[in-house]
Parts: sequence; structure tokens; C-alpha cells
Amino acid sequence: MAVGTAVGWREGLDAGDLSSEALVRSAFDRIKRLDGQLCAILATDEDQSLRLARKADARLRAGERSPVLGLPIVIKDNLNWTGLPVSCGSRIQEGYRAPYNATVVERLIAAGAVPLAKANMDEFAMGSSGEYSAFKPTRNPWDTSLVPGGSSSGSVVAVSAGYAPFSLGSDTGGSVRLPAGFCGVTALRPTYGALSRYGLTAMASSLDQVGPIATTAADIALALQVMAGRDPMDSTSTDLPRQDGLVPLRPRNLKGLRIGLPTEYFADGLESGSRSLLEAALQVFADQGAEIRNVSLPHTRYAIDTYYLLCTSEVSSNLSRFDGVRYGHRAGAPSLPDMIAETRDQGLGPEVKRRILLGTFCLSKGYYDAFYQKAMKARTLIARDFERAFESVDILATPVSPGPAFPFGAKTNDPLAMYLADVFTVTAPLAGLPCLSMPAGLCGGLPVGIQLIGPAFSDVMLLETAHAFQSLTSHHLETPPLSA
Ligand code: GLN
Repeated sequence: MAVGTAVGWREGLDAGDLSSEALVRSAFDRIKRLDGQLCAILATDEDQSLRLARKADARLRAGERSPVLGLPIVIKDNLNWTGLPVSCGSRIQEGYRAPYNATVVERLIAAGAVPLAKANMDEFAMGSSGEYSAFKPTRNPWDTSLVPGGSSSGSVVAVSAGYAPFSLGSDTGGSVRLPAGFCGVTALRPTYGALSRYGLTAMASSLDQVGPIATTAADIALALQVMAGRDPMDSTSTDLPRQDGLVPLRPRNLKGLRIGLPTEYFADGLESGSRSLLEAALQVFADQGAEIRNVSLPHTRYAIDTYYLLCTSEVSSNLSRFDGVRYGHRAGAPSLPDMIAETRDQGLGPEVKRRILLGTFCLSKGYYDAFYQKAMKARTLIARDFERAFESVDILATPVSPGPAFPFGAKTNDPLAMYLADVFTVTAPLAGLPCLSMPAGLCGGLPVGIQLIGPAFSDVMLLETAHAFQSLTSHHLETPPLSA
């Protein structure tokens, strides 16, 4: 049994039928009961959360109304929440605590949301399964022998298992959408720049975005409304058009909506059970008068290579700051170079090391043109594919992943197999486009997601379209059979 929707709780809080303090207390009870098994949470500060909840209750009693006032939220452990650890799922950050709030966290707290916990994640957000956390792997609430997906594993499980009505993750190449698909929740990767990255530990800066996760698109809209908008602390941030249209979110009229199916995404490699669910979901749109047509994104086949060349290049640069001098863990060693090398060797896991090595190679003299430069050119071609497609359709619909959640260990011995799990989620970020994953039904008892991709800054339209689908279906209300 999940907590229900944020919109539902919003009404209860506004009507005085619920209190934020009671919600937060029951959330902690649930975490204590379930998280020994699910391992979604890395840190909490119950006293602070309860204090914030009581403050929200006072604001509610004084008649204040705002989208997230009094609602609990779980935060991925690469986003700063002042005073709490920001481990990024890594041992190298051991002992480091956030000195300031990320802008998105600051805005949520100012609007009265109550942060509950820091969520487990793949180390430095590198991973697709949740297995690369340096501390413990998060488990899928639908079947604990399966991965929840990554890298925002804990954030997604926190919503799926009903700890909180929403959470924040980050999405560089799929990290909110892939786990949302595996765990049956809804997640948005906003247009690049729509949410500030200030206070988000950088992985690949040209791709990183904060992504809200919730049960429904309407719930996501509540959180997005208070977080979006330009932030002077992030020069890549900008205002979100139609931000006022987020609350209350209205379902988009589907009549005449032109939905493009990229043929490249529906070729071999998509499991048949997932394909049938996608077809059924598309029929829901078609029954409402949407026009479904095939489109081509011909450079899709270069997306995984392009993403992993650019991502690792940026990783090799961004992660050089974790050197034992400024943050977290420091190894004892006779000289500064030894100390740096030892700290990084002890503190970083194998996947992070692999990416730093790959990225350093891509950027090194003699290889830069062949790898980094070429990948940048491919990125432009991929972005042009989308531009062309959006000349004839309003939105694209695709699978989120080739199949449902897989067992622990299935891909950890083969990095390439793990990278291929991202085949449907890395393209839109390369073009900076907003995209969303939402439940399309169950296959063999496991959730399968459908992805919607829109033109840049169509985030509100994307949510309205998802909301229309969720008003007509109930897949998003299915909850995992948790053993208490
Ligand atoms: N799975 C992808 C990767 O490992 C995406 C990660 C992310 O979006 N943070 O790079």
C-alpha cells in the first residue's frame, strides 16, 4: 500500500484533515519497517524533519496555501541539504556534510516541503541498476531479487514503497526515468536549464539535470512549480515557460495530438511483453483522437557511443576535485601526489575509476579529435534529428528500457551490457530535451514504463499529456506487494 498521491495529501492538509507532522512520523515508521530490506535511504535527521513539519503545520493553520506546504520529500544523496551528509554514494565523501542547500532544496524548504531523508544512489550517479552504491544496493519493492534501476535508485524506491509522495533524483542519461520504469512511478527529466544545478554534485555538467519523481504527473507538477525558474547561481538555468500552468495541472486535450514513434526505438531489442504494453498505451492515446505516426531519428544508433564518450570526458574533469584535499576521505601518505593517488584509489569504486580512465583517454592529446570532438559532432546530428522530427509531430513516445527490471548481478560483470540498458534514455539528454517516464502496465508482475519526449521547454505540455493518460488509466496506481 503506497501513501497515495501528493495531490490527495495536498487536499487533506489544506482541509485540515491531515497534519504534516503526522505524515512525517508515519513516513519514518514506514522507513524503519521497510528500509532494512529495501536500502533506499542513506541518512536522515528526524528532529530537523519534524521541526520543519511543525512549522509547515503552523503555516497551514495560519491559512497559507502553497503546492508543497507540509509534504515530505526524499532527496538524492548528490543534492545538498545543509548539515546532512552528501555522500554521492561514494566512500570518498566520507564525513563530508553539505555546507549549503542546493537551490532546488532551498526553494522546496522555503515553500514548506519537508525533506525526510537522503537517498541511496549509484556512486556519483554512474550506473543504471543501483548496484554501484559504495554502501549497499537498493532493492526493487516489486521483487527484492531484482534491481530497482539507477542511478536514482533510492529516490525512486522511496516513492514506489510509499515513504514519501515525491523525491528528487538527477538524470544525466536516464537516471530518473530508467528506475521509474522499473519501479512503476512517474519521473520527469526537465529541459536542460529548467532546474538549477547549484548544489547538485556534477557528473557530466552538459547533461546533468535534477529530476522530480512522484506517483503521478500532477504530483510532479506541484514540486516543479516551486523549484523551476532562473537561478543566479547557475548560469545555465532559465525560466520555464507556462510555469503558472503547473498547478492545478490540466489534462491535455489529446484530440489531434501528433505522436511520433521513432522507428529506431521499436526495432529488435525490445522485449515482446514490453512492446505489447506500449502498444496498448498508444491505443489509449489513439482512442482519444491522437494521431500516431512513425518518424525516424536516424542517428539514434550513435547515441550510446556519443553519450559514453562525452559523459566520461566530463566525468574525468569534474571528479578531479575529489582529491582528499578539500572533501571527505583523506588517505595517509608520505607526499601530496601519493596522498591524492591513495585517496582516489581507496575512495572510488571500479565504475567511477573506469569512467575517469576512459574520459581521460578521450580528452588526451592525439585522441581528442578522434573521440571527444567526433562525439560532439554526433551530438549535433542527434539534436538535429529531434528538430526535424518535431516539425511533423508534437511529442515522441518510446520505450524506457528494453525490458523490465533485471536480477542483481546480471550486468555487473559486463560494463557494456550495463551501458546498453540506457539505449532509450541517453538520446534526449544529448539534445537537452524534456522527457518523462510513466507506468504503462505490468508484465509478469513487473512494471514497464513508457517515455514521452517533447521539444525544448515543452515541460508543462509533457506533464499535461501524461496527466491526460493517467486520467484515463490506472497503471500509475498499482503498488508493489510489499512484505511488511
Ligand atoms: N545510466 C547512465 C550512466 O550510467 C545514466 C546515469 C545518470 O543519468 N546519472 O551514465
